[in-house]
Formats: sequence, structure tokens, C-alpha cells
Amino acid sequence: MAPLSRQSDQANFMNGLGRGQDQDDVIEQHVRTDRLHQLFRQSFAAIFGSYLAAAMLCWLCWDRLDQRIMLVWLVTLGVSSLLRIKMFMEWFRCPNSERTPERWERRYWITLVLSAGIWGAGAFALIPTDDRLSQVLVMLFTVGMSVSAVSCYSAYRAMTVTSISLVLMPCTLWLLWQPSSMQVGVAIAVLVFSTFVFSATRKLSEALEKAFRLTRQMERAHTISTRAAQTDELTGLMNRRAFFERAQVLYAQCRHNQQPLCALMLDMDHFKQINDTYGHQAGDQVLRQIGGVISASFRQADVYGRLGGEEFAVLLPNTSLDTARAIAEQLIKAISGLAAEPVKGLSASLGLASTHDHDQDLHGLMNMADKALYRAKAQGRNQVALAE
Ligand code: GH3
Ligand code: MG
Ligand code: MG
Repeated sequence: MAPLSRQSDQANFMNGLGRGQDQDDVIEQHVRTDRLHQLFRQSFAAIFGSYLAAAMLCWLCWDRLDQRIMLVWLVTLGVSSLLRIKMFMEWFRCPNSERTPERWERRYWITLVLSAGIWGAGAFALIPTDDRLSQVLVMLFTVGMSVSAVSCYSAYRAMTVTSISLVLMPCTLWLLWQPSSMQVGVAIAVLVFSTFVFSATRKLSEALEKAFRLTRQMERAHTISTRAAQTDELTGLMNRRAFFERAQVLYAQCRHNQQPLCALMLDMDHFKQINDTYGHQAGDQVLRQIGGVISASFRQADVYGRLGGEEFAVLLPNTSLDTARAIAEQLIKAISGLAAEPVKGLSASLGLASTHDHDQDLHGLMNMADKALYRAKAQGRNQVALAE
């Protein structure tokens, strides 16, 4: 006998529909993960870009700026870049299930603050007091770095703002306190420019988050509608269409593996009478209970569903007719033992057929089980009949 304790997927699905808040939490968690993946996808090039920018600035200003500071800056930037590369390598090697915000966000923040801080501090240490051209060049590169931060960290607004602030602000604030109106003017222009960039980062990260959320919500809606189209609303079992779709696949598998396949048809006895005596709602309740008994009675590998009305079908792969018969007998017992107040004396008739005895296609097999079922009815109901 197959295990009797498995809760059906369908039942889980029906329960799941009621847990809207849980589903929203799941979507929010997915959105956070999508943002993180986007961040890693977008920002790998930033490691090389920021080092290259620093190297280029040093090359352009080699004779104009303090060479010792430049060397220290390039070495520390190199070390922080190596740390970031190491983190990315671990990310690439990490299985998808472990790429979670809880695991990676803090780490990313640390390396980002470190490298942006080194960049900004280095530029500030290098900017000369007396060489306007070098000042303009340093500012040009810090502004360039800020623009690229927008394109690299747009999924996380706080990261974009932090990295821009760390890179751009030390030199800009320094310029703001210089005596020349040209220097102050440049600093003010940079500050004005920054406010536009900050506002753009908010719009960009909101748009990205919205896109991630919409994608996830569409995926969820698609899953729900697909499952709903396959599920019998009353019992939570597969409906007729889904049953035959799955049945065709199972039939082909059994044929390919040369395994026997048993078909079991079940029809409630005198169900019309139950409706007439106790009302349609009581009849519905009985059908729900039958659905519960069926989903608890069969294996994961079995395919079962409600074909319509009070008729159900089950396919049992790799099962001998004797085993299937024992399962069917036990099912009859379970149904007759159902406490379905106020309905009393529930019973069902079952017909069984196997491909082992008859080389039939799926519909031939189901027809044979159906004929056996009508023999079970004719022989007095509440029993199992085998195909002849
Ligand atoms: P038999 O033992 O010969 O199978 O008798 P029966 O009354 O079960 O057979 P019949 O096919 O004549 O009647 C089936 C009844 O099942 C008719 C219909 O009222 C009832 N039925 C079909 N679908 C539903 C449903 O979704 N809910 C309820 N409550 N009743 C249903
Ligand atoms: Mg019927
Ligand atoms: Mg019936």
C-alpha cells in the first residue's frame, strides 16, 4: 500500500492562496535579491575603471603633483581593488542559493566604502594649492568617477550617494574654502551638479526596484493562473485536462521503461440520492473529503484527479494489478469509514485495468477501467472490479 500521509501539492497550493502577506514577504525578499544580483552584474567593471582613472590622473600630472603621495595612493588603491576582486571571485563561485542580501550586502558595503574612501582621500591629498590646471584635472576625474558610480551602483541608491560623497566631497569642500572666486565657482558648480545626480539616483533606483517587483509579481500571477487552470476548485485535485496531460506523460514513461501501468476509475455510489437527501452543499462537502482521501492515499509518482461530477481517476505506474487491487480495496474501506455528517453510508465503486494484461494506449486503458467500473456497479456497488 502506498504511503497515506502525503499532503497534496494541490492542497498546499490552495492553502498558499490564502497567505497573501507571506507571499508579499517572499516577493520583497526576491526584490532584494534581484537588486543584489543587479549590483554585482553592474559593478564588476568599476573596480578596473576606478583604478585606471587613478592611474591616468597620476600619469597626466606626474610632474605636477607629489609623486610619493601618488605612489602610496596607487598602492593602497591596488590593495583595495584586489580585495574587491577577491569578493567578486567568491561571488561568482558561490551557488545561487547562497547569493543572499544577508550574506553579501555588508561585505559589499565595506569594500565599497574602503575603495571610494581611498579614492577621495587620495585626490584630496594630491590636489595642489597653487596649480590651477592640476586642480581642474583632479576635479575632472572625481566628477567622472561620480558619474560612473551612478551607472554601477544604481540598484542601491545609498551606495551611489555614499561613493559619490566619498570621492567628490573632500576636494569640492576644500575648493569651496579657497580665496579665488574661480575655485569657489567650480566647487559650487560641482555641488549643483551633485544635487541633480542625487535626484537622478533616486529615480533610477526606484524604477529598478519597481521593475524587479513587477517581474516577480507577474511570475507569481502566472504561477497562480497556471495552477488554477490545472486544479479542480472543489477538491484541490487535478482537473480533467491536467489529469490527461500528466497521464499522457506518465503513460509514455512507463512504455519507455517497459513498466506496467494501472488505471483506477472511481465513481461514488448513489450520489444523486445524497444530493437529494442532504442537499447539494453536503454533497460538495463529501466530494471535498473524497479528494482529501485520494490525495492522502497515493504516492508522489501516481497521477490522480477529478474527471468530473463524482468520478475520479488514478494512474499507478510500475504497480502490479494485485498491488493496485489491494490499494483500491483499502480506498473503498477509507471511503466507507468517512465521517461525513450528516451523510451516512458512503460508498464507491472502482474499476481497474493494467497495461500489463492488455497492450492498450492510454484511452484504451481508461476505457477498460471504466467498463470494469460499470461491472462493479452492476454487481452491486461498493466493490472493485478488474478489467476482463
Ligand atoms: P451510481 O451509483 O449509479 O453512480 O449513482 P449516482 O447517483 O452516483 O450516479 P449519477 O451519475 O446518476 O449521478 C451523479 C450525481 O452526482 C449527479 C449530480 O447531481 C451529482 N454531482 C455531480 N457533480 C457534483 C458536484 O460538483 N457537487 C455535487 N454536490 N453533486 C454533484
Ligand atoms: Mg457518475
Ligand atoms: Mg455515481
